[in-house]
Parts: sequence; C-alpha cells; structure tokens
Amino acid sequence: MSKKKRNLIERLNVGPVICAEGFLFEIEKRGYMASGEFVPMVSLEHPEALENLHRDFQHSGSDIVQAFTYNGHREKMRVVGKEDLLEPLNRAALKIAKKVADNPIGKEPNLMAGNISNSNIWNDKDKSKNKEVEKMFSEMVSWAVDEGADMLIGETFYYAEEAYTALKVMKKSGLPSVITIAPMAQNIMRDGVSIVDTCKELEQLGGDVVGMNCFRGPATMMPYIKQIRKVLKCHVAALPINLRTTEEHPTFFNLPDNNGCTCHSPYKTAFPTALDPMQCNRYEIGKFAKEAFDLGVNYLGVCCLANPMLIRQVAEAVGLTVPSSKYRENMTNHMLFGTGKRIPNHQKDYADKA
Ligand SMILES: [Zn+2]
Repeated sequence: MSKKKRNLIERLNVGPVICAEGFLFEIEKRGYMASGEFVPMVSLEHPEALENLHRDFQHSGSDIVQAFTYNGHREKMRVVGKEDLLEPLNRAALKIAKKVADNPIGKEPNLMAGNISNSNIWNDKDKSKNKEVEKMFSEMVSWAVDEGADMLIGETFYYAEEAYTALKVMKKSGLPSVITIAPMAQNIMRDGVSIVDTCKELEQLGGDVVGMNCFRGPATMMPYIKQIRKVLKCHVAALPINLRTTEEHPTFFNLPDNNGCTCHSPYKTAFPTALDPMQCNRYEIGKFAKEAFDLGVNYLGVCCLANPMLIRQVAEAVGLTVPSSKYRENMTNHMLFGTGKRIPNHQKDYADKA
C-alpha cells in the first residue's frame, strides 16, 4: 500500500528539508545553455540532460525536485524571440521534474516544485510593467498547478514589492509556498525596503517558508539569516551560492577572483564565466548548512554553482544519510595518505613530499 506523501510543512516540522537549486550554472557547465543569456531551453532541446541533473541531485539528497523554469518566463522568452515556446518549455520542465519526484530512490516520493522568479522588468520608479509581471507569474503558477506541483518556489527577488506580488499569486493556488529574496550588494532591496522588513512582510502575507537564495555566498548571507531567523516565526530558507563572497563584494556580480583580476575573462567582471577560483569547498558549504540548521533553519540548499557533491554535504551536515553517502570521501585507502594496512610505508612516508 502506498504511503501518503507528506507535504512540505509536515516535513519541515520534523526536520531538515533539502532543496537543490542552481540549475542554471550547472546546466551551462554541462554544455546545454549559453551563459549570460541563460534561457532554460534544455527542457525542450535536451530533456535527458535535465532529467539526469534532477536525478543526480535526488541521489545526493534533494527532497525537492524544482522544475527548471527559472528565466523561463514570458519576458525572457520575448528577449530571445521565442515567446511561442513559453508554455511548451514550462510544461516540459514541470513534467520532467514530476517524473523524477514520483520515482524516488528512497521510500518517500520527493516534492515537485513549480518555480517563478525575478522578472527583470519590475520597476518601482515606473510601475507600468508591474501588472504584466503579475500576469507572467499567474500563467506560470497555473501551468505548475496543472502539471501536479506539490509546492511552489518564488525565488531570487531583489525588489520587495515584486516578491510580495509573487507570493500573493502563489498563495492563490493553495499550495505550500516558499519565497526567498536575493538582495544585491547595497544590502537592501532595490525599492528601499530592508532585508529583514521584507521577510517580515512576506511572513505576514502568508509565506510558508521565507528566506534568502542566490547572489550571496555563505559569508555574506549568514549575517542576515541570523537576523531573519530571530524575528520570523515561520520556517526559514537559506540557499547561498557556492562562492567566497566578501563584505567588500557581497554578491557574485562584482566579485573579483583571488588575484584581484578577472583572469582573462573578456568581460569586466569575473561573473558569470570566470568565477571558478572563488568557489567554496564542500566543508565551507557544510559548515554554513550546519550553522543555519542549529539556528533553526530547516529549509536548506545551495543555489548557483551548486552540484550534487555539495548537496550531499548539506544533507550530511545536518545529520542525514543520502543515497550518494555511499560514495562520500574515504581516505583510508589512498595511495599516499591512506592509513590502511596494505598502503606501503615508503608511500606513507613520502606523503609530505608529494
Ligand atoms: Zn542562484
């Protein structure tokens, strides 16, 4: 007999829930998307590649299979002249996510999440386009509901009012709603609302899970997560990017690489194609997850530059064992650093000269 699938809130009430984000950078890295333009055509052009990435994240402990519709909104499709593919793209991404979520590796099915995000035409100074943004959100939410989403994620909002609008649209569906913001380097929402006040309002508007995702690495997200966790009663989400952002450069948009240059990038920034040297290692990501979890943050993940190895690290940092835990590092049998009986002494002795 099939067990009833627990909803997002039931899961969060009893422990951590892991959500892999960051599809954009990982799909680009795998060769199925143009960087910079960042349109998720992969659901139509290489569905098998997208399904594989979902499976890899699932294998590493993601409880949520987030449909890859980030940037798959009407405005972006207009920018690239493919508006006619808007609905097919959305439905294809949702169907792939649903298929993966309903075929879990563990016992319990995963949750399939519909996804809306920053529209890039929201403007607090000229509100003429803001109604259009609301319509864009509504059509995407309706397709997600139609394709059987278990929950909705609204993410990467840098205008407070745009996030409020997204949440209002999501709430109409009746599905559990996660809403996360991504303030830029001025450390305030672009319409002048503070990060904490934005989160407070999102809780008032009925956000089931409120928090932050993207743009910021562990170092520049954690200070705000601490404040948010303190003032909110609802569940809190924390999904940093996998980069060593700093107080001077709080987001990845202007983050210089370790040498202070952009390392032969043809652009004036290391973003988005030359960020590699500033990546965190798995232990830094695990430390962030553990620290957030200890504060009472149960919705955890990684956004841009996430990969399956890091998702496993997040899961294990909060005490979970996931299918890919079978392959976590094991140095016992390493040819130089191993401690096992069969590792010859002349190898062990040479380790510090290797
Ligand atoms: Zn991101």
